[in-house]
Amino acid sequence: MPANIIDGNAIALEIRKQVQQSVSKRLENGLKAPGLAVVLVGESPASQVYVRKKREACAEAGVVSRAFNLPDSTSERELLNLIERLNHDHEIDGILIQLPLPDHIDATTVLEAIHPDKDVDGFHPYNIGRLAQRIPSLRPCTPYGVIHMLNTIGETYKGRHAVIVGASNIVGRPMGLELLLAGATVTTCHRFTRDLADHVARADILVVAVGKPGIVKGEWVKPGATVIDVGINRTAEGKLTGDVDFAAAAERAAYITPVPGGVGPMTVAMLLRNTLEAANNHDASS
Ligand code: NAD
Repeated sequence: MPANIIDGNAIALEIRKQVQQSVSKRLENGLKAPGLAVVLVGESPASQVYVRKKREACAEAGVVSRAFNLPDSTSERELLNLIERLNHDHEIDGILIQLPLPDHIDATTVLEAIHPDKDVDGFHPYNIGRLAQRIPSLRPCTPYGVIHMLNTIGETYKGRHAVIVGASNIVGRPMGLELLLAGATVTTCHRFTRDLADHVARADILVVAVGKPGIVKGEWVKPGATVIDVGINRTAEGKLTGDVDFAAAAERAAYITPVPGGVGPMTVAMLLRNTLEAANNHDASS
């Protein structure tokens, strides 16, 4: 039986509507709309597309986004000064620094400069640490979005083996923490893992985030598994494709995400949700 396709666009739309309703309620109650600063350094066309999509999603949900499009020549000090200003700006609840940054700027230094309460990407060590200690605050958007997708299809986690392929700071590692928090038994594979096929074959839940098209073969997938493909790659013909050999995997899996239209829209939806959460937290503490 071919797999059920998990419709990321539909699930993300639902979240965006919920955020929109909550923002309307805030306004009715005399509170301000949540504010998101979107900082882009340089002119990468891919980053410009991502930033535009995020700002459009904000506008639709009633979140006020403020754009900072800085030249490639921006120094690390100038960027840190801007973050410092935004940390103290009461109109701004969330600060998003679009990655990657130019080579002359250290991303770790910059991300750590964001106040953890405004870290709507969830990358700050404080927020990752809270997730690791089972007391999550603002959670990294892509893994959080994957969890939301899994919840939507009724995933139960406990007693299930989750295998993650990829161990980056923004996807693979926090994904492991999320799945552990949810109660799954977790294996994380990365570039030094031997026998990737054997690990993949033991996955009840498989999350792949590498950035190499076809790195996971369809015939490795355990029959009945749930397959979440985070990878976004562009083919020579300009089409978007994931990391999993989709057609063959869909013959074996019970559930699978497409690329595009899978995890991608969830990431943007969770960013809005985090920005709303940050605004609510700021009101509660002021
Ligand atoms: P990254 O390059 O930072 O990390 C890649 C990871 O893959 C590393 O941990 C590396 O060890 C591992 N890896 C490399 N070769 C491997 C191999 N042969 N076997 C097993 N593991 C291997 O990438 P990233 O930022 O985590 O992004 C991964 C992919 O996810 C990219 O395609 C990216 O575009 C996509 N992505 C999608 C979203 C989304 O919203 N859908 C968000 C973030 C990233």
